[in-house]
Amino acid sequence: MPNRPIENIVIVGGGTAGWMTAAALSHMLSGQKFAIQLIESEEIGTVGVGEATVPHIRFFNQKLGFNEADFMAKTKATFKLGIEFCNWGRKGDSYIHPFGAFGESIGGVAFHQHWSRMHRSTGIYPIEEYSLPVMAARAGRFAYPSADPDSLLSTYSYAFQFDAGLYAKYLRSYAEARGVKRIEGKITDVALESESGFVQSVQTNQGDSISADLFIDCSGFRGLLIEGALQTGYDNWQHWLPCDRAVAVPCSIAGPLTPYTRATAQDAGWIWRIPLQHRVGNGHVYCSNYISDDAAATALLGQLESAPLAALNQLRFVTGKRRKQWSKNVVAMGLSAGFLEPLESTSIHLIQLAIGRLLEFFPDKSWDPALASEYNRLMDLEYERVRDFLILHYHATERDDTPFWNYVRTMPVPDTLEHKIEMFRERGIVVNYRDGMFLDASWIAVYLGQRIIPQNNDPLGNAIAEADLQVQLERLRSDCRAAAEGLSSHADFIRQIGAHAH
Ligand SMILES: Cc1cc2nc3c(=O)[nH]c(=O)nc-3n(C[C@H](O)[C@H](O)[C@H](O)COP(=O)(O)OP(=O)(O)OC[C@H]3O[C@@H](n4cnc5c(N)ncnc54)[C@H](O)[C@@H]3O)c2cc1C
Repeated sequence: MPNRPIENIVIVGGGTAGWMTAAALSHMLSGQKFAIQLIESEEIGTVGVGEATVPHIRFFNQKLGFNEADFMAKTKATFKLGIEFCNWGRKGDSYIHPFGAFGESIGGVAFHQHWSRMHRSTGIYPIEEYSLPVMAARAGRFAYPSADPDSLLSTYSYAFQFDAGLYAKYLRSYAEARGVKRIEGKITDVALESESGFVQSVQTNQGDSISADLFIDCSGFRGLLIEGALQTGYDNWQHWLPCDRAVAVPCSIAGPLTPYTRATAQDAGWIWRIPLQHRVGNGHVYCSNYISDDAAATALLGQLESAPLAALNQLRFVTGKRRKQWSKNVVAMGLSAGFLEPLESTSIHLIQLAIGRLLEFFPDKSWDPALASEYNRLMDLEYERVRDFLILHYHATERDDTPFWNYVRTMPVPDTLEHKIEMFRERGIVVNYRDGMFLDASWIAVYLGQRIIPQNNDPLGNAIAEADLQVQLERLRSDCRAAAEGLSSHADFIRQIGAHAH
């Protein structure tokens, strides 16, 4: 059968998802004859949050050819070495989940095995002292990782914290320069083809009727096409991730510029702190079954480091995902595809992943159902992997001081996660998922940070005498400390590379 290429693509929505998609498609498909249009409504606006990322964003930016210093200056971005979690395992606890390793394997045995052996016998420093990115984050310092695999400076990666509105603007000018046409208007109606049920066109309040072969639904939580028109259904995961509201507000920076995001557990949720060059983004994610909106806002305002710079932004959500993220000729991306709450800054990464998968399985007008089916299978897996990792943060706790923590501590968790936790608790084994963005070091950070300490260690590690091990560990610890102290301050580094906002 002759190939019948797609000619027209319409992206519905101009938030981070819409403009990331527009920018990526305009670049990756530049040799093809596509018309790409993006419809957005200033009246509706965007969700206005989503400022912390994971390291994969750098590959997205690089692929599009962004100059990193220019991108950082224009989005007022800072560097991010990880996330500090406060009060999660117990009140008073603090650990950092870094974008990097804890130590290195010794004698072919993973570092955390040696650490837990020493932890049980003679006692040992917290595992974070053997991680350069954590030590650098705690010291407020930053440098680019080294490409030399023998250097301690090669043991980490980094991400960004940026102004979401400015990032969308940055992507927009990139996409428009590559031919994407932006249409202002509020979509008021969606027309379906009578036989196939495919979306044929959308109508706006400006009187436009816009048709396309492929529609990408980036309309946010409302899922205008994927749910509103096609009613694909939603897998609700609130029984595992019960937080369902957030209130956000920016404030000025009161201290040194920290190269990490902070997530501080509260009575019925947690508060984020995301430092940008010009302000700090703050928000309280909470479960409305256990705390009122007023009490959540009061808790947030009470923990700000300076006066609020804007009115409170109140948001509601249901954790979960669409049953099909690609249905007929509609592919949902961003919040219209699902939402897993922002504890590990994964949403923007899931957008990036969805764009990559769409390009991998790009359809033509024959709409081979195998493409959508494989796309949906892979995206489902990604969402499930992230979901399990997030559940771990709530479930692995000793907190019993509020009804919220009692619920999440005792709730049944997915079998896949239960098995992983047991294997780690028993022997420090990190059971690998076949797909999923979080690698061993991330799971180890959260397990140990939230007090799941292996009861036994890998017996192969016992070949090294404890005294020898102690010497090696001590050398590594002092190397990490010295390397961290040798780095520039985060703010100085941003200035040195010309990434400061003007
Ligand atoms: C509390 C909270 C904190 C978050 N923190 C993070 C984080 O730290 N890191 C991270 O990676 N992600 C985070 N996220 C997720 C992140 O904000 C989103 O993934 C990202 O902003 C993408 O949103 P979006 O573009 O899908 O939706 P939106 O920003 O809601 O954009 C939707 C677009 O659709 C348009 N639209 C809607 N209806 C119509 C209509 N009828 N006609 C025309 N246009 C329409 C709107 O005008 C808008 O342009 C967070 C989310 C929440 C709720």
